[in-house]
Amino acid sequence: MYSFRASAGLVDLAFTDRYGGVSLPPYAELNLAVAGSDDEEAKAENHRLLLADFADGAPFADLYQVHGNEVVDAACGTRPEADGIVTTERDVVLLVRTADCVPVLLADEAAGVIGAAHAGRRGMAAGVVTETVARMRTLGATSISAWVGPYVCGACYEVPEAMQSEVAEVEPAAKATTSWGTPGLDVGAGVLAQLARDGVDAVDASRCTRESEDLYSYRRDGAGMSLGALIRLRGA
Ligand SMILES: [Zn+2]
Repeated sequence: MYSFRASAGLVDLAFTDRYGGVSLPPYAELNLAVAGSDDEEAKAENHRLLLADFADGAPFADLYQVHGNEVVDAACGTRPEADGIVTTERDVVLLVRTADCVPVLLADEAAGVIGAAHAGRRGMAAGVVTETVARMRTLGATSISAWVGPYVCGACYEVPEAMQSEVAEVEPAAKATTSWGTPGLDVGAGVLAQLARDGVDAVDASRCTRESEDLYSYRRDGAGMSLGALIRLRGA
């Protein structure tokens, strides 16, 4: 069910893998995608199973992700268009979805503020992680920790040279070369560089989605499959 799970004080967080759900091949098993042709009931059951394991009975808030840099306050039962989400509410689970893009979880436990961001190539370049950190600071966060989850690594993510230059102009750390010697992007390296500049300590809990059969990879598996990144601040 998880590729990484940790607790830091009252903060629980996790990145899922593809196991422990009810979706059938090729989506098997724990598919959390919003769109795509996997069975809707299976995806609903996957969310139920995951939430029951991660934070039984807790409400969750998620996003309709659009590769931008908008950040919203968590509002359970809605699904706003945004790529960053924050809350100061205890027990609310924040969920973002990825399948090659970079999931980022953020917390200042002492201040009682948590956040999550979906940072693909466009979102990273547009500064969604920095925007999420900034929003957390307006809510009182001062000492933020971050966890970067699984994404397609720079050795596996080929892009046209012009696209690489465009992104590297904004974030030089993202420039990479694929294992077959062509221009690539390491979006997670870009995110880590941004977090460092923002004064956020980050744990790199990433693995390459494309190289791991345990994870969903848009580039390997196609559309309609998603992993989840979850975080919550437990009630005292
Ligand atoms: Zn890779």
